Amino acid sequence: MDMKTIKDVNFKDKKVLVRCDFNVPVKEGVITDDTRIRESLPTIEKLLADGASVILMSHLGRPAGTGFEAEYSLAPVAQRLSELLGRKVLFSNDVFTEVTVSMARDLKLGEVLLLENLRFIKGETKGDEGFASYLASLGNVYVNDAFGTAHRAHSSTAIIAKFFPNDKYFGFLMAHEITNLEKLLHSAEHPYTAVIGGSKVSSKIDVLKNLADKVDALLVGGGMAFTFVKALGGKVGNSLVEEDKIELAKEILEVYKQKGVKFVLPKDSLCSNRFDNEAERKVFPTDEIPDGWMGMDIGPEAVAEFESVLASSKSVLWNGPLGVFEMSNFSEGTLQIGRCLGKVTENGGYTAVGGGDSVAAVNRLGLAKGISYVSTGGGAMLEYLEGKVLPGVAAILE
Ligand code: ADP
Ligand code: MG
Repeated sequence: MDMKTIKDVNFKDKKVLVRCDFNVPVKEGVITDDTRIRESLPTIEKLLADGASVILMSHLGRPAGTGFEAEYSLAPVAQRLSELLGRKVLFSNDVFTEVTVSMARDLKLGEVLLLENLRFIKGETKGDEGFASYLASLGNVYVNDAFGTAHRAHSSTAIIAKFFPNDKYFGFLMAHEITNLEKLLHSAEHPYTAVIGGSKVSSKIDVLKNLADKVDALLVGGGMAFTFVKALGGKVGNSLVEEDKIELAKEILEVYKQKGVKFVLPKDSLCSNRFDNEAERKVFPTDEIPDGWMGMDIGPEAVAEFESVLASSKSVLWNGPLGVFEMSNFSEGTLQIGRCLGKVTENGGYTAVGGGDSVAAVNRLGLAKGISYVSTGGGAMLEYLEGKVLPGVAAILE
């Protein structure tokens, strides 16, 4: 893929519009995790070092789209960003007014302007072309560095690009995500293993189908394993099951069988009699869980079997926690498998983790350092792995 990144371009004297993902958690006006802001720095710093002026655009949360709402204001982001950049970040208290237009027009080289939350304007999420053309009029180059929203065809993430046929690029963060996802889909070294967990089969169906052509083995854990175990005739007690997905689970099992790809379900599960960290715990074979008990984590035999498959893998893709990792008594399986990925990396292999909860798990358990690539995009990463072309990516490549 021709990457069209900012890397080899000089942006001297340009007014660059950058779509970032500043969708950070904010509690009572205070940013509780500034990871996404910090991740945007390399792109912004490169543009400033070249001698450009920079206009930043983002959304935050899900406002109604009917104007300003204090709880979704990007004002705290402007402040944090100026601390991190060590220079003033101008902030326009609005998106679509004369004030914004003149602030953008008067912006000098070396200056940074952040627009207020784009989703205060209804047109943004509708992909409105008029709104996209307005945003485009504020600058003369477009850079998309918002991987987290690359699966949305919004005005600022995709539609805007058509106004810059020869001046549109991926920022560093986007380029990094795409390079790694392309590798996972097209050039991962074998043996290649995918570990898929999380709560529901329904949210991962297309990923599972698409990976059948790529991987040598699939290890399934988490809540979604029980729908497969039930599809194979097992007894799963009160474990999470999507009854209406049992036929689909059978289909997926058949696809893997036909392709000769190993499909590994957890042999045993750590179960509890209530959905509670303090509940009584007991290990059962995953297909013989008594009524009244539910699988909360993969069991010790499952961990051992997953470990042995991972130990001989050269590439590993992991999405979805293997148990209810939020509860300390049921996070062991997720922790052990994360450590296995660490070992694969240490031995020269390539490891990747993505998904909102998976990344939270990896960070919470202190496993991120041992992983080659930790994706910043939950939904966007899953759609990429489904084989879809993301609108935000296509818009730059077109
Ligand atoms: P991601 O966001 O990484 O794609 P998911 O959203 O698919 O992951 O799944 C994460 C959720 O799955 C977590 O909240 C976790 O508690 C839940 N989960 C994992 N294993 C089980 C289980 N055995 N029973 C119920 N929920 C589970
Ligand atoms: Mg999730």
